[in-house]
Amino acid sequence: MEESFEHVIRITREPTSPRDCIIIQARIAKVHKSKGKCIMNMLNAYSFQMNLSFLKRVSRQDEHLNVIICEENEFQTIIDDETHPNHGLIQSFQQQTETDLLSNSFIQSVPSQLPKFRQELELWSKIWPISYTPPPPTPTPSEEFNVSQKKFILDTMKECKRLSAQEQGANIVMIVDPLQQKILSLGRIGTLICDHPVMEALRSAALTVIQSKQSGEKRKGMEGEEEQYLCKGFYLFSIQEPCIMCGMAILHSRFDKVFYSTPSCERGAFESRYSIHEDGRLNHSFQVYRITS
Ligand SMILES: [Zn+2]
Repeated sequence: MEESFEHVIRITREPTSPRDCIIIQARIAKVHKSKGKCIMNMLNAYSFQMNLSFLKRVSRQDEHLNVIICEENEFQTIIDDETHPNHGLIQSFQQQTETDLLSNSFIQSVPSQLPKFRQELELWSKIWPISYTPPPPTPTPSEEFNVSQKKFILDTMKECKRLSAQEQGANIVMIVDPLQQKILSLGRIGTLICDHPVMEALRSAALTVIQSKQSGEKRKGMEGEEEQYLCKGFYLFSIQEPCIMCGMAILHSRFDKVFYSTPSCERGAFESRYSIHEDGRLNHSFQVYRITS
């Protein structure tokens, strides 16, 4: 029988209700709609550098087409500075559309960031049309995993807890291969001087990988550059939410998913203090879950 997965929650700081739209001022050219074809040809050949490429370039209003030219803070510089890379393009835009941008343009607020989900897309598109489609909503853990995966996840956490109880409540970390549903290595707090069980589990996983390489085994689905990441495709289980140092080791090893049972208050890398698993400034992201009972 399928066990309840309701107490597995995904740890995320992704917004769940629409955020306020952060706007930026853009310079918009107002061109008669009869120039539509000419504008489309120009835009196809256009090499304007624009940070707002997720916005639709042209918006129709009555008899006119409003065309984003650039961010407002660059407009005057582009017009005045003949050496600016976009200066020539603006000149030819004016000639081909027979539009004087100094008299036939205006400033308008436009969204400055990508919408993360459909509700934001709908609201923000009212400010200026957006061409970007946000990804579909993230499935709940219950929708994300199949019956066999759910059983494996719950059983693995149970095994961590059993070992922990056996060792007077010590923190236990396990690295598992979800494809083979196999435990690869184990870490315990206190086995290294620095008391970071993820490090211990990684050291032991590294030994396993080295041994399997020596015996000529190849990891499923791994090729070329991917092979250099120790834990790509693997899950990590831990009783305690890993600390920031362990969290960075998890990130660098390219784990796919992390599961833990108890938040770590001030020291936690995921829900308690930082959110390093979904920090866009870092070069890897992964999913993190808390199994609450
Ligand atoms: Zn640690």
